[in-house]
Amino acid sequence: MGLLEVKQLTKKFGDRAVLDNVSFTVDDGEFFVLLGPSGGGKSTILKILCGIESADAGSVILAGKDITRSAPRDRNVGMVFQDYGLYPHMNVTENIAYGLEARNYPKDEVTKRVKDAAERLGLTPLIDRVIVDLSGGEQQRVALARALAKDADMYLFDEPISNLDPKLRAQARRDILMVHRAKKKPTVYVTHDQNEALAISDRIAIIAGGRLQQVGTADELLRKPANVFVAGFLGAPAMNLLPGELKFDSGEYRVNITNSLSIRLPAQWDETLKDYNKPRVILGIPPAAFLAPDVVSEADLHGVPNHIEGEVDFVEPLVSEVVVSFKLQNNFFVSAIFQGVDETALEMGSKLQVGVDSNQFCLFDPDTEQAL
Ligand code: ADP
Ligand code: MG
Repeated sequence: MGLLEVKQLTKKFGDRAVLDNVSFTVDDGEFFVLLGPSGGGKSTILKILCGIESADAGSVILAGKDITRSAPRDRNVGMVFQDYGLYPHMNVTENIAYGLEARNYPKDEVTKRVKDAAERLGLTPLIDRVIVDLSGGEQQRVALARALAKDADMYLFDEPISNLDPKLRAQARRDILMVHRAKKKPTVYVTHDQNEALAISDRIAIIAGGRLQQVGTADELLRKPANVFVAGFLGAPAMNLLPGELKFDSGEYRVNITNSLSIRLPAQWDETLKDYNKPRVILGIPPAAFLAPDVVSEADLHGVPNHIEGEVDFVEPLVSEVVVSFKLQNNFFVSAIFQGVDETALEMGSKLQVGVDSNQFCLFDPDTEQAL
């Protein structure tokens, strides 16, 4: 049982379903990230958790107490909104102090906490300024300081650092994590930035189209995406998704992608596929499953050799790796991430033959788009 239990939340605006049966639990001290594209329903979930929006159905349980119908002020939540939710004509001190006074912290405790939080977020020089005279980034830091100053039962963050410049963002992220660890409360953190999600989460829930697509650790989501959406959403570049014909030939399964490209599936798929009676599958190949071109002769490392031939279309050198897009027959494109190769050898238009680590394959049902 998690400390925060979110059960079957459903929400409509007019006749548009914005949340459809969303359930998850967050443990005490867990940093739980809601990740997904804009418009997916992330902010609506957070608003329901803190009580400024009500669910049509479902419930929110915090530490065993049903707070679904509690007023926002009765929930003791530390929250940073996407639009900050500050009092524009109060100054920084008053904004940070407001929630503490509302919860009857003693006066000297309020002063101390305001000072500490302001200092931690670099707001000390701005402490007497009114909010309307601050930049967007500064306002965001005030909102963070306000949430961090109090001892809440849970913390909710809605894209709290998206307006900060990269240096402050890294600092604010450390501050959020530091406080989270000190307070050991459930934290729900919304972002549309997968790098941020992968970097700071204990677990991630992928939300899209009002539905919870998958919950898991970053590693679980990357290795075993539950469906085509998650596979195509995560990673830069994302997993290659190649529709093909499923064949069983001389004791082994193959996916025929094009006339000349037939990929052998390792025996670990036999059990799953013997009950799968459809003619087609979608083969998922993570970009990192491709072996660098110069180790192509060792492609049978894992017993099932697979080679893919194509033409180099695009090369993007990054700090320690190279992202290469290459074109197969029939205008299929696949992306590969190679570690430690000399990208000057990968000329545009040149032919490329690379091996693939078959153990990293994923398969999806093309009708349901669910993983097999
Ligand atoms: P996210 O935070 O993932 O970007 P939101 O929860 O803000 O998504 O929005 C989900 C959907 O609900 C969007 O299509 C948005 O336009 C719609 N929506 C949000 N709030 C309201 C509202 N008060 N009235 C009508 N539609 C809304
Ligand atoms: Mg939002």
